[in-house]
Amino acid sequence: MSNIPKNLREKLIEDFELKPAIIHNYEKSNDGTIKVAFKLYDGNIVEGVIIPSADRITACVSSQVGCSLNCSFCATGYLQYKRNLLAGEIYDQVFLLKNLSIENYGIPLSNIVYMGMGEPLLNYSNVLKSVEHITSPQGLGMSPQRITISTSGIAKMIKKLGDDDVKFNLALSLHYADNEKRTSVMPINQSNNLDMLSEALDYFYKKTGTRVTLEYCMIADLNDSETDALNLVKFARLVKCKINLIEYNPIENAQYKPSSKSKTDNFIKILEQNKLIVNLRRSRGKDINAACGQLANKLIN
Ligand code: SAH
Ligand code: SF4
Repeated sequence: MSNIPKNLREKLIEDFELKPAIIHNYEKSNDGTIKVAFKLYDGNIVEGVIIPSADRITACVSSQVGCSLNCSFCATGYLQYKRNLLAGEIYDQVFLLKNLSIENYGIPLSNIVYMGMGEPLLNYSNVLKSVEHITSPQGLGMSPQRITISTSGIAKMIKKLGDDDVKFNLALSLHYADNEKRTSVMPINQSNNLDMLSEALDYFYKKTGTRVTLEYCMIADLNDSETDALNLVKFARLVKCKINLIEYNPIENAQYKPSSKSKTDNFIKILEQNKLIVNLRRSRGKDINAACGQLANKLIN
């Protein structure tokens, strides 16, 4: 910055450090989805994705390097947890993905989901700071209603979101509405069980007035039976919510398979018969391992 005095420049160097995330490389899927590897100041890599669809362009960003929660169906869960991302590193992902979106599709991002690597609510203050920056007029000026934070379910922090009266959307990765079975695939359920989660979600709804999304990944013969659907109905009745059924994306580390079409259709029928709002989310970017749960730094080099 040669347009500011030399002594001020020296002072800035003394007092501040720049730790930008940069694009390391990226890959485009047959369906237009782009997966990006970001290199951080310390050499760590995290991934982000942009997903174009008919009515929106969604960016998916990471909140941590790796993840400490080890869900058995998720590729990130098999990576070693290294550290929380800085607020600026989360913001940089969004900013760089916005530029890539304009370059590739001619329009900026319309939605942002914190569904990349890591558990956002275990990096609470940096995640909230990044949202502030994305929504502020000095930042990207985006509406918080276009931002969704997804959590595997940290009850205490869900309540804190309510106390902080956040304006963005919240999604809970539920995947099982039975405690014992949920714990078997998501160890975090041991200390944050379904009773604690439904109570926290209800608290969040009462404080913010925002209906939460329950994410439910359809895995063959694991959580797609009629009993599983009825358990989900019971849980969903406890909180104001809508349900996103997600097509399961196979990963290298585990043997799970996606549910069949007939099982999925039957599951949806049961939910709808019980007056629940259900969306089926088809997978995107599978050919480049960019789909939900497939982020595991395969792009490096
Ligand atoms: N840690 C947060 C956010 C990142 S995971 C969370 O767990 O919510 C983003 C979403 O992808 C979560 O709903 C997660 O459960 C889901 N997911 C993980 N592995 C998946 C897979 N193999 N196929 C489909 N969805 C998966
Ligand atoms: Fe972590 Fe979410 Fe993957 Fe579980 S699903 S291992 S919480 S990133």
